[in-house]
Amino acid sequence: MPTIFSRIVAGEIPADIVYQDELVTAFRDINPKAPTHILIVPNREIPSAADLTEADEQVAGRMLIVARKIAEAEGIADDGYRLIINCKEHGGQEVDHLHLHLLGGRPLGPMLLTR
Ligand code: AMP
Repeated sequence: MPTIFSRIVAGEIPADIVYQDELVTAFRDINPKAPTHILIVPNREIPSAADLTEADEQVAGRMLIVARKIAEAEGIADDGYRLIINCKEHGGQEVDHLHLHLLGGRPLGPMLLTR
């Protein structure tokens, strides 16, 4: 079964895609947690950050470079932003297709809630 993000990459289900190339696709999060909330995903399914190997260096690097370019295009680069990858259960990962969250457009507060 393809992941929901694979179906977005393939154009099978709608999404607000802001960037796509041969390695990655970026689209707006359906439930945004900040004024700018964009997900950058590898076009090829990689389940989580824990599954990355040396063979994925190019796509992993592309995800970061594309995040920087989108932040500039969104006008949030000067004030700053946050990049998050949630990994597996303790990381709070909900979709088993690697994705980089790009969040910004307001002060985002402390990195983690502590308790
Ligand atoms: P995570 O908890 O790191 O796995 O994040 C998954 C993210 O995917 C959440 O922020 C969801 O709001 C987002 N999401 C789930 N389905 C869609 C969708 N169809 N289009 C855009 N974003 C989605």
